Amino acid sequence: MLTKIGFISLDELKDSIRNDTVLISIMFANNEIGTIQPIKEISKIAKESNVIFHTDCVQAIGNVKINVDELGIDLLSMSAHKFYGPKGVGALYVRNGIDFAKIQDGGHQERNKRAGTENVAGIVGLGKAIELANNNLENYNSKLLKLRNYFIREITSKFKNVKINGDLKQRLPGNVNISFPNTDAEEVLLKLDSQGICASAGSACSSGSSEPSHVLTAIGLDKNLVGGSLRITFGEQNNIDEVKFLINVLERILG
Ligand SMILES: *Cc1c(COP(=O)(O)O)cnc(C)c1O
Repeated sequence: MLTKIGFISLDELKDSIRNDTVLISIMFANNEIGTIQPIKEISKIAKESNVIFHTDCVQAIGNVKINVDELGIDLLSMSAHKFYGPKGVGALYVRNGIDFAKIQDGGHQERNKRAGTENVAGIVGLGKAIELANNNLENYNSKLLKLRNYFIREITSKFKNVKINGDLKQRLPGNVNISFPNTDAEEVLLKLDSQGICASAGSACSSGSSEPSHVLTAIGLDKNLVGGSLRITFGEQNNIDEVKFLINVLERILG
């Protein structure tokens, strides 16, 4: 069960661990509503029960500071293109001493853990991208926060009946998920697109499907809000003028 702002229940997590549980895997930050889970508390629960803790960090890497030792993370996955690296390459951090079964049979590359010749260019690209992201983390984070907070402040003052989904503090800096009551988000997206604005309704991976967002459904959002929810993500190449333009366009579409 998720809370209304998208946090997992730590009590439920504790209760769900059985004698034969070997792994807990919980997303660091949600891709739709940006909620950052209480990772340190989760890893503590895992450790107390002698269970390995994996986190899908794909959204969070490059956006928030992550120290696997401080946070008690055993396994962590990332994908290069989410922090401006090349597409088609990712990495799994594995804490020393943890063994895992391969998912791909064939050659004995990479200590028999991943058959197939390494994508060297991709790997080097990922390495460089994470280095740059890490060096620029604080600037990037505060830049996104400015854009995001400006957008939230303006949009909630212009539209009194909107709802911002997810937690406002424990949240990815560039993420806004906003519901306009009794609105068809797909229609809004088309109009935004015609103005050169890319946004999404729900997960980008399931764009094109008209299924309601499972994340918004899981946090118990009202039905008339789920269908009118937009996910807006600010990134490195955005600036405040673009945020103003976005607000303008939304006013024209929905005002
Ligand atoms: C994008 C994303 C993925 C998938 O990564 P790809 O490399 O794009 O397939 C997995 N988890 C989260 C949280 C993501 O945001």
